[in-house]
Amino acid sequence: MLPQTEGRKLRLFQETDPLKQWYSLGELRFCAKCEHLFSGHDIRVSEDENGAVQFRCPTSGCDGQWEDWEYPQLHL
Ligand SMILES: [Zn+2]
Repeated sequence: MLPQTEGRKLRLFQETDPLKQWYSLGELRFCAKCEHLFSGHDIRVSEDENGAVQFRCPTSGCDGQWEDWEYPQLHL
């Protein structure tokens, strides 16, 4: 089931991201694969054919996932 509200989306991030803490969807992440900065709002959430929720980098053509997304402070 895809999250229908911002609060549910945030909770889903908190439960699913194995590496980072999420306090709000406005937090920024830096994708190491495409070298773009984006916020939690931008992360693409979709369901695969088995109903499992998938998370993808918002950059088109980038298959970045949780392990590729870093805290942006590291790049300032
Ligand atoms: Zn990316």
